[in-house]
Amino acid sequence: MMKRFCFMVPAIALLMLTACIRPVDGPDVDPAWMQQASTEKLADITYQINVYSFADSDGDGWGDIRGITRHLDYIESLGATGLWLSPIHEAGSYHGYDVIDYNSVSNKLGTETDLRELIDKAKAKNISIYLDFVLNHSGKLNNWFQDASSNPSSPYRDYYVISSNPEADVAARKVDNFAGAYSPGMGSWHIMNQDGLGYKGRLHFLLDWNNKTVTVTETTEAAQPSNPSATRWIYYGSGVLAGLYETGTGIYEITVDFDSDWGFLIRTSTSQWDGGHKWGGQQGQGVTFGSPYKINNSTAADIVFSSESLWYFASFDSSMPDLNYGPYAKASESPAFKALGEAASKWIDMGIAGLRLDAVAWIYQNQTAANVSFLKQWYDYCNTAWKAAGGSGDFYMVGEAWVDTAEKMAPYYGGLPSNFNFYYWYTLKDRINRGKGDDFAQTAIYFQNLFRRYRPDFIDAIKLSNHDEDRAANDLGRIKEKEKLAAAVLLTSAGKPFIYQGEELGYWGSKSQGDEYVRAPIKWTVDGSVPTNALNGKADFGMLTGSISVEYQENDSDSVLNVYRAFAKARNAWKALAKGSAAAVSSPSSSVALWTRTCEEQVVLVAHNFGTSEQSVPLADYTLDKCIVSNGSVTVSDGTLILGPRASAVYLQ
Ligand code: MG
Repeated sequence: MMKRFCFMVPAIALLMLTACIRPVDGPDVDPAWMQQASTEKLADITYQINVYSFADSDGDGWGDIRGITRHLDYIESLGATGLWLSPIHEAGSYHGYDVIDYNSVSNKLGTETDLRELIDKAKAKNISIYLDFVLNHSGKLNNWFQDASSNPSSPYRDYYVISSNPEADVAARKVDNFAGAYSPGMGSWHIMNQDGLGYKGRLHFLLDWNNKTVTVTETTEAAQPSNPSATRWIYYGSGVLAGLYETGTGIYEITVDFDSDWGFLIRTSTSQWDGGHKWGGQQGQGVTFGSPYKINNSTAADIVFSSESLWYFASFDSSMPDLNYGPYAKASESPAFKALGEAASKWIDMGIAGLRLDAVAWIYQNQTAANVSFLKQWYDYCNTAWKAAGGSGDFYMVGEAWVDTAEKMAPYYGGLPSNFNFYYWYTLKDRINRGKGDDFAQTAIYFQNLFRRYRPDFIDAIKLSNHDEDRAANDLGRIKEKEKLAAAVLLTSAGKPFIYQGEELGYWGSKSQGDEYVRAPIKWTVDGSVPTNALNGKADFGMLTGSISVEYQENDSDSVLNVYRAFAKARNAWKALAKGSAAAVSSPSSSVALWTRTCEEQVVLVAHNFGTSEQSVPLADYTLDKCIVSNGSVTVSDGTLILGPRASAVYLQ
């Protein structure tokens, strides 16, 4: 016998082939609890925004802060109590991760007044604003780096990872940023300043092949033409080859009017570079006029003229020099830490309620213990600033410790209250694509047990994709029912869910086309344009059609957007779904994921069918007469839950 349908019209529900979302409005929702959930931010759903592409308020084709303020109702409709903004500071690139000034708001995105307005209006809706703060590196155009590059006595040289002899310094374990490691794991050294590398004037070269040295001297002797019968050459400038004259056994010489801004190399072939034909020096070791300089054909770095030439280290590309915080145990005493701390304090004083920290595994080069020590110091600093500014509770901070495995990430909870759980999404997409649900809950709980070992009050920042990954829809084969299932799972899982701009509309996009394609603007209306100037026009207009727009999906009961809204609303309405602890329930079907969420006296049963065929799940030990929210075909018969393909349902116990 049918005990209860989750649909308004049971007879029709049985025959329904398309997905259906049951709204949570109605007698099931306790209005008092909804108010409490909102006030206490129990739902803690956070929405991730690319400020440059979310919404454009002034028609310049760039998304901006006022664009966000205008759409706070939309963000509220997704149940979000937090907003993570992509970096808002003046930066060298559209995405903002190469910061020029940590104390500024990029004029492309708005003003400090705009930010204050956003903070205030969001606060009125119980929405907190989190800034993306980039601690691992600054932009190359940052005044700190510009001064450090050009001024030998610059105080900002302490802010960066600089060496005149990287190989020797790394080998001697002198580079604090590597925290005692020899290999950085990622990143490379770059010439800090082109000045002083080259030389212009008449020079005499003496190559001693017996000892593999070259001696360079300034001279007023007459310059010589290149020796057409040479077997050794000086290579410099824009491809100049000067053939040397053999003047003794293994001794080669020439005088030339030298002009090269990068130094020189020695070649034993005019046509080949490899096979040991290129001879050069050691990185960062310049020649001294009149002194023999040792050459080699292994490292074979450009031989430069300044013994003062400097190199800087960058984990990512050369436009983003890594910041230096000195020995990790005393990082908070470093000038860079203090400067960034002052900047963070400014924003916290303004009302920013949290930070998302970029690339925290690379602050010290993939050195977990050093990074954790640093992050603890940084968190304590910001939390103190938060409390001094009158903030209630603790400051929120979430780290991007994007390392291979959850086991390697878990120790980061020793430094931060919250970290992104990339492994949650890896697991979820794998299980959805395989139609296997029965071990999902155990796996998600396994991750949380790992994190708990390092911080009992961990905040598991669960997510699908983000701005650095292929879109969730791509990973799910752009199958709409899979996207809805992923949304329903995310919003019924334990943890703090993050929804990435566009995911709620079923956006697709792959990084293989360029990062811009996973950072597309929101298509607000069926006919309206989208701001793509920040993305240099790189947007998939085949995707950004009227039917993917917010306007269209709001009016489409079958839309991805309405699944997000329904499940977010349910999460906000039921404390067990918002913050309850999770326990796996043994599943009789390999396709079906089952778990409970418990908060105080309230318990809910969560069920998702990851498979493509209908599944009947006997659940005699559970109550199936009060459905909080569902998606897809869901029916109940004699203690058996019948879940259609990729259907989801939550029952109050
Ligand atoms: Mg604009």
